[in-house]
Amino acid sequence: MSINIAIDGPVASGKGAVTKGLSKKLGIPALDTGAAYRAVTLFLLENNIDLQDEKLILMNLNKINLRLYMAENHDVRVFTQGQDVTGRIRDNRVSLAVPTVAAYAGVRDYVNHQIAVVASQGNYILEGRDIGTVVLPNADYKFYLTASLEVRAQRRKADLDAKGEHLSLLEVMQQVKQRDEQDINRKIAPLRQAPDAIYVDSSNLTLEQTIDTLAKYIKL
Ligand code: C5P
Repeated sequence: MSINIAIDGPVASGKGAVTKGLSKKLGIPALDTGAAYRAVTLFLLENNIDLQDEKLILMNLNKINLRLYMAENHDVRVFTQGQDVTGRIRDNRVSLAVPTVAAYAGVRDYVNHQIAVVASQGNYILEGRDIGTVVLPNADYKFYLTASLEVRAQRRKADLDAKGEHLSLLEVMQQVKQRDEQDINRKIAPLRQAPDAIYVDSSNLTLEQTIDTLAKYIKL
C-alpha cells in the first residue's frame, strides 16, 4: 500500500526543512513542488518573457522541458532545457515573481503534470500550497504548517543573508506578507488549510520538535 503525505503552508513556514527531515526520518521520498513553480519562473525571467502576458507564457511552456529529480540527500534537483538550475531557483527575484506565474491555470496544469509523473512512483511526501486541497485531496496524512509572520520573516531573512542577499527585517516581512496575499487570494488553487489537515504552528518549536510533531501522527 502506498502512503501519501501532503504538507502545505505559507512562505517560510519551514515546510522545506520539515519535509526534508520527515523524509529522512520515515524513509519516504519528498518533493518540494514550489521548486517546479520556481523553475518555470526562472526560465521566464531569464528569457525576458513578460510575466503579465499569460498567452505568451503558455506558448513558452513547451520549451521549458522541466524535470524534477530527487537527490540522495533528499534534495530536489530541477532541470530546465537539460540544464540544472537548482542553484538559481531560490534567488529573491524568483521568490518575488513566482506567485504571479503560479496563479496562471495553464502553468498549474503544466506543473501538476510533472508532479504526477514523480509522485506516481509510490510513497511520497509532497509539500506546497495546494497539495492537500487540490493535488492529493485523498492523501493519507495532511498537514498545514505555519508560524507567525515575524518568525517566518526572520527565517526568510536568515536564508537570504546566507545567500549574501541582505535586506532589512521589515522589507523581508513586507515581501513575505505580499507573497502570502497573492497565494491566498488567487482564483485557482489558492493557499488554504484543507478541512481535514492537521494544523501545526511552529513559531515556538525547533526544527526537530516540528518534525517529531508531524511524525507522531504517521503510522507506517
Ligand atoms: O514553497 P516555495 O516558497 O518555494 O513556493 C514558491 C511559490 O510557488 C509559492 O509562493 C506559490 O506561489 C507557488 N506554489 C504554488 N503551489 C504549490 C507550491 C508552490 O502555487 N504547490
